[in-house]
Amino acid sequence: MTRANDPALRSWVDVPPGCDFPIQNLPFGIMRRAGGSPRLATAIGRQAADLQVLAEHGFFDDLGIPLEVFAQPYLNDFMALGKAKTSAVRNRLSHILDTDFEEWDAGELAPFFLFPQSEVEMLMPVRVGDYTDFYSSLEHASNVGSMFRDPQNPLLPNWRHLPVAYHGRASSIVVSGTPIRRPSGQTLPPGADQPVFGPSARMDFELEMAFVVGKPTELGQPIGIGEAEDYIFGLVLFNDWSARDIQQWEYVPLGPFLGKNFGSTVSPWVVTLEALEPFRTPGPVQEPEVLPYLKSEGNKNFDLHLEVWIQPEAGEAARVCRSNFKYMYWNMAQQLAHHAVNGCNFNIGDVCASGTISGPEEGSYGSMLELAWRGTKPLPMPDGSTRSFINDGDTVILRGWGERNGVRVGFGEASGKVLGL
Ligand code: MN
Repeated sequence: MTRANDPALRSWVDVPPGCDFPIQNLPFGIMRRAGGSPRLATAIGRQAADLQVLAEHGFFDDLGIPLEVFAQPYLNDFMALGKAKTSAVRNRLSHILDTDFEEWDAGELAPFFLFPQSEVEMLMPVRVGDYTDFYSSLEHASNVGSMFRDPQNPLLPNWRHLPVAYHGRASSIVVSGTPIRRPSGQTLPPGADQPVFGPSARMDFELEMAFVVGKPTELGQPIGIGEAEDYIFGLVLFNDWSARDIQQWEYVPLGPFLGKNFGSTVSPWVVTLEALEPFRTPGPVQEPEVLPYLKSEGNKNFDLHLEVWIQPEAGEAARVCRSNFKYMYWNMAQQLAHHAVNGCNFNIGDVCASGTISGPEEGSYGSMLELAWRGTKPLPMPDGSTRSFINDGDTVILRGWGERNGVRVGFGEASGKVLGL
C-alpha cells in the first residue's frame, strides 16, 4: 500500500463527514481563481490546493519536475511525467497536508495555496484527444436490447465475446457546471413513415465512469492485458448525454452520431487509479470464457457507489438512481487491451467511458430510458411532476465514491443543466 492511502492518516485541513476529499484521495484537477491563470490543483476537504504555489515554494524541488508543468491549463503534461513522478507528487502532498507535518508552520503558507472550492473555478482537467464510449454493462445492454429488439434474446451475438464500443466526439466533452443545450435533429415520430426536424423530446443522461489515458502507445503497438492498467492515470464521472429519439432513428447501421455528440459532462477532479486501490473487487463471472488476449487476472473491478440526482428548475432535487461501478461486465483493462489489440494507438489525455452503468434492480438503472422504461413508467418527483426524460431547466447531477476502513474517496460531482432552445 502506498503511504498516501493509509487509512490512519489525518489532515490538518478540515475534512467534514461525508466529504469526498480526505487526505487519502488527493485527486488532480485544473483550477483558476478570479483573474488568475489556470494551474494544477488537488482537493482536500472543501479546499482546493494550488500546486503551482507549492511548487514555487520548493516543495517538489527534489522530484525533478519543471516548474511550468504546474502552471498548465490541462493535466496532460503532468500525466506525461509518468506514474513514478505523479505518484511521488501525491505522496508529497500527503506529507504536506498531514497533521504530523512539522517542517513548516501550516498557518503561514495556507492562505497562499488553499482556497475554498466554492470560490475557485474548476476547468476541464484534460485536453481530450480521442474519446471512446464502451457498452460494458450487461444489465444496460440487456435492458436496451429487450426494449428495442428482442426481450427473449436481448444481447447481440458478439456482446459476451468483446467489449463493444463506438468512437465518440472529444470536442464536446465539457466540465461539470457547463450547461447543455437541448439538441435539434431528425426523428421518426411513432407511427410515422417520414422523419421530422425539431428539438429532441427524449433527452436523457447516461451514468458512466471514464478513465483517462496517461501513457501513450505507438501506432501498431498492442497493449497486453497484464499491463493495461499502467496506461490508466485516473477516473472521472462521465454523463454521456443522449437524445433517444435522434439516436433511435439514426443509429443503424453505424451506431450513435448526433444523438450523442452534442455534449458529455465530466467531473473536474481526476481520481488516480492509485487512490482507488482499496476499492478493488472481483468482477462478474464471464461466461462463455473470453479469448486469451482478454483474460484478466486479479480484481479489476472497483466498488464505487454511484448516484444520479435530478434538480428541477424550481423544485427539490430527487435521487433517481443508485448504481455501482462494480457491476461492469467488462473491466477497464479488458476495454483497453481490446481497443489496442489491432494496433490502434493511444495518446495522453484520451478518454474511454464505460458505457451506462446499470445494476440488477430497477432503481439502479443508469439512464431515464431504463428507469422510466421507454416512457411507460414515469418517475415521480418531489414537486408532484413526473419525468420520463429530462426537461428544460433540469440539472442532472452524477455522484460517486468508494468507502472502506472508514475512509471515503469520492469524485465530487458531474452536473449539467439542460437549456431549452
Ligand atoms: Mn454511453
